[in-house]
Amino acid sequence: MKILITGGAGYIGSHANKLLNKKGFKTVVFDNLSRGHKEFAKWGEFFYGDIRNKREIHACFKKHRISAVMHFAAYAYVGESVSEPAKYYENNLSGAINLLDAMREFKAKSFIFSSTCAVYGVPERIPIIENHKRCPVSPYGKSKFMIEEILKDYESAYGIRHVNLRYFNAAGADPELEIGEWHEPETHLIPIVLRNRSVRIFGTDYETPDGTCIRDYVHVQDLAAAHLAALEYLLEGKRSDSFNLGNGSGFSVKEVIETCADVAGKKIKSENSKRRPGDPPVLIADSSKAKKILKWKPRYIDLHAIIETAWKWHNK
Ligand code: UDP
Repeated sequence: MKILITGGAGYIGSHANKLLNKKGFKTVVFDNLSRGHKEFAKWGEFFYGDIRNKREIHACFKKHRISAVMHFAAYAYVGESVSEPAKYYENNLSGAINLLDAMREFKAKSFIFSSTCAVYGVPERIPIIENHKRCPVSPYGKSKFMIEEILKDYESAYGIRHVNLRYFNAAGADPELEIGEWHEPETHLIPIVLRNRSVRIFGTDYETPDGTCIRDYVHVQDLAAAHLAALEYLLEGKRSDSFNLGNGSGFSVKEVIETCADVAGKKIKSENSKRRPGDPPVLIADSSKAKKILKWKPRYIDLHAIIETAWKWHNK
């Protein structure tokens, strides 16, 4: 039996795929390489396909005996989702439905879903716990929220159990430097600062101590470890659930820029710019549920150490 990893050539998916293979699982990466990289999919088998294409997904399930699915394949830029919502609903939403329908047909019963803190929208309480009201403000967050809802119905009707992993801000890279964060175009704060000498700060008038957005950065390897824990959890027959994955501490955009400059030993010029649509002011996770139930133990709790792994990867 194999684990299907959609988007396994992408940033977080490739780290999960590497870890699963290290632990002895057989994996199949399903990816259309639109945003991922073939050289990142070097563990397990590779199936070139698009989640929007039912035929390709079915062909993959026909070829391989899939027992569980980790679904990473999605568009994930908050700003882009605001200007191009159709793209997000088509890829993220219909793609997930196509995948779930193939699972239904081929009787694969475990689904691990890459969800996001964006499902909470503008939070009323910090740190955020899983039963906080979900009221997403961007089409990206809404697409993930809708899939979480669909998963409940697919469980009741078809018995597909699921774990929603709500990531906060993924950061860092594989310490063995085989894979890392590589988006084209790059829109994420840490790689932008590490790659350049200047950066635009999206919004300096938020109600935060220095006026810039606060985020909770979590190492990509720790996210991969949570996927492994979620897989084992579902394979043990446990019930569907949702878990926040973050470090529980928040850093402002300005603090992140300073830390990157420190790690890279270079001066960064920052330019104040207007707010990016869809960005809530503060997002910080309470991940005690994942720690308690999935026995998740994040290894990187220090922002400096997280950024160092990203910097080493960037230099490689
Ligand atoms: N950000 C910024 N300048 C940039 C990229 C991002 O000020 O060039 C801000 C962004 O508005 C957000 C934070 O940095 O408040 C983290 O954004 P990122 O795109 O890295 O991750 P996201 O929160 O979208 O997952």
